[in-house]
Amino acid sequence: MSHARGGKEVSSYMSISQLARSIAESPTLRLNEEARLLREKGLPVTHLGGGEPKNKTPIAAILSSAAKLANGDIKYVPTDGIPSLKKAIVRYTEENYEHLVEPENVIVSSGAKQSVYNVLFSILNPQDEVIVLAPYWVSYPEMIRMVYGVPVVVTPEDGRYLPRMADIERAISPATRAIIVNSPNNPSGLMYPEDLVAEIVQFCERKSLYLIMDDIYHKLVFDGKKAPSAYRYASKDLESSKLVIINGISKLYGMTGFRIGWAIANRKLVEVMNNVQAQTTSCTSPITQAAAEGALTGLQSIVESLRLTIENNRTVMMEELHSFTGVKVAKPDGTFYCFPDFRAYSNTSVELSDFLLKKALVVTVPGREFGMEGHLRLSYCGSVKDITEGIARMKWALDPNAPNEIYIGDRKLVRDWL
Ligand code: PMP
Repeated sequence: MSHARGGKEVSSYMSISQLARSIAESPTLRLNEEARLLREKGLPVTHLGGGEPKNKTPIAAILSSAAKLANGDIKYVPTDGIPSLKKAIVRYTEENYEHLVEPENVIVSSGAKQSVYNVLFSILNPQDEVIVLAPYWVSYPEMIRMVYGVPVVVTPEDGRYLPRMADIERAISPATRAIIVNSPNNPSGLMYPEDLVAEIVQFCERKSLYLIMDDIYHKLVFDGKKAPSAYRYASKDLESSKLVIINGISKLYGMTGFRIGWAIANRKLVEVMNNVQAQTTSCTSPITQAAAEGALTGLQSIVESLRLTIENNRTVMMEELHSFTGVKVAKPDGTFYCFPDFRAYSNTSVELSDFLLKKALVVTVPGREFGMEGHLRLSYCGSVKDITEGIARMKWALDPNAPNEIYIGDRKLVRDWL
């Protein structure tokens, strides 16, 4: 609705804050919704845009949350997390990072997403800058803007997907407060090598910058590799350190719907984040916290079997892409994404992604959203069939060397645009 005031059109949109209006919608969540609606219409959509493993919730998590629910005593709990979950996170950190932290260094939030947002809210003043390394997770720049900060994007050289230290150093200004690193990386699947992690940790210490390590995929790593731990290169003790580790259960245990993540940081920062969270969400639901505790303390072979399935999917995805004319892709070290370069077909990833959805009913995520045009993010978290079917359809739609006929569902389609 709009009405004229003083000769100017004043739309009802004007009552929305400028900041809120400027925040982009989440492209990945939008695509999930689009795919869901198309499937509801009965169309055989293949989803290569997803960001969650297909496994069922680990039984230990189900039992532990069911027990909590059954006792009927579901009330507010401490803002920073229930003590037994925090203890499990301390143990997880010790086992996986070989690093000792105290429960006071841990704060549990509603997903790693909220953990990242709370850190940014707690450390940034308006106009403070945060270095974001492309390709980056779509939410970082928007979250930085949501707390009136300024994202400063460092883009790697053409054809590469990891930043150069010299480029990071050049991007620093007196307003820089933090660097965010996500390794293994969404969308590229690449892991920052040990020496780059060491250099970034030491650089942040020298410059007194926060280093936010988003480690949400740190155990979904392939080929016998292990994600380097930033703690190993930190010379400061945790209480005087500005290193923040973000983690959660969403990707590792395929428990995206439970919305549990956490941050590990110095006590002062955890205290401040605690205040932020207390004034916004009070606490994360004890039912899902119990589930997270169950997952962390239950059988860990679940993580390994998920990892193996995804590693196999990665191999299939690479084989399929290698026979795609003109498409270049870096082999992922981890995660369940890859980030092929489709500039042989289009420099406009949003248009390309739309074209693939309309013509071939394949969901992909445009690289522009991750700060690198001409690429598409493809997920291999689904089934092998999703991957082979999805890539076959993409080849049919784009690759002149691919057969020009295909069955999509029970309909035979003929390509007539190449
Ligand atoms: N960080 C990265 C890099 C992610 O890819 C995601 C999920 N897509 C998150 C954080 C958020 O995870 P959660 O479900 O725990 O909020």
